[in-house]
Amino acid sequence: MIPANRLPAQPVRWQQLWREAITDPRELLAVLGLSGHAGELLPAIDTDFALRVPRGFVARMRHGDPADPLLRQVLPQAAELGDVPGFTRDAVGDLAARSANGVLHKYEGRALLVATGSCAVHCRYCFRRHFPYADETAAANRWGEAVEHLRGDASIHEVILSGGDPLSLSTAKLAELGDALAAIPHVRRLRIHTRLPIVLPERVDAEFHDWFAALPLQRVVVLHANHPAEFDAAVDAACLHLRDAGATVLNQAVLLRGVNDDADALAGLSERAFAAGVLPYYLHQLDRVTGAAHFEVPDGRALALVEALRRRLPGYLVPRLVREIAGEPSKTPL
Ligand SMILES: *Cc1c(COP(=O)(O)O)cnc(C)c1O
Ligand code: SF4
Repeated sequence: MIPANRLPAQPVRWQQLWREAITDPRELLAVLGLSGHAGELLPAIDTDFALRVPRGFVARMRHGDPADPLLRQVLPQAAELGDVPGFTRDAVGDLAARSANGVLHKYEGRALLVATGSCAVHCRYCFRRHFPYADETAAANRWGEAVEHLRGDASIHEVILSGGDPLSLSTAKLAELGDALAAIPHVRRLRIHTRLPIVLPERVDAEFHDWFAALPLQRVVVLHANHPAEFDAAVDAACLHLRDAGATVLNQAVLLRGVNDDADALAGLSERAFAAGVLPYYLHQLDRVTGAAHFEVPDGRALALVEALRRRLPGYLVPRLVREIAGEPSKTPL
């Protein structure tokens, strides 16, 4: 256990850091000393998916480098604007699988709740960039409809919170769900898919830690980091607090051209994540969503990269290379 006095009782509130995120591409370039590159880097017209990136994440980018792998994940680019055959707005068939209350139940034993539409960072390759999040998500109505569905299906042993980013909800809101789940005998595990401990690690504050640690369910957190430079001391602390709260902490990454499509970056990611106590889980082939074609890595290259990882790393540091295919009953290994 971490002594309570080592967790800041009143840290800088994460909600405030959230509000202070950079949303203006020109400001982002200015902060990085890249104003002179605006003409070549920024699209001529606004895209329909605004820039958003917390300042703490920007601080991990290399100053003066227009090819920085963290910057490339968040900066709108002209390449997003053209239509590319094979790339669609609902690349993984979520709209077909989603029920009105934000529950996606397509995998055996596991139900996924689309808890919220909001994220602290906007990732340009995100398959949900065109997702028509209604105001009505699983969290609406004190999670009522979602909990009703979970209670009524004894085959569900694991509840997966996804989004958007579920940790963008307040801890009080998450606690409402935790209380309801704890009262459903067949639900054994709560899994949270989140990028917040990476992009805004202050989110894992004492209030969240204490709630999570006391939850009478097995806990799994699947983080989302794509490059070793996304980790810093604050992220290490967030991961430590998650593990201290009893969670198994894993990482999933997306294979992205110009970000992590080389063996050094991927091996570095596994090593750096493990140094934070985090095991690699999935390496996803890109979902073919409109506006993300310039990030795609061919399957042959993806397989060669994972083969290179297998030679360099212990088996537990090699992620599973998978693709999401609409309608399939699980992620599909390549
Ligand atoms: C990816 C996904 C899951 C979880 O799959 P795992 O292989 O267990 O990580 C569950 N439900 C849906 C709808 C998913 O897309
Ligand atoms: S944090 Fe996750 S859901 Fe949000 S934009 Fe990034 S990839 Fe998409």
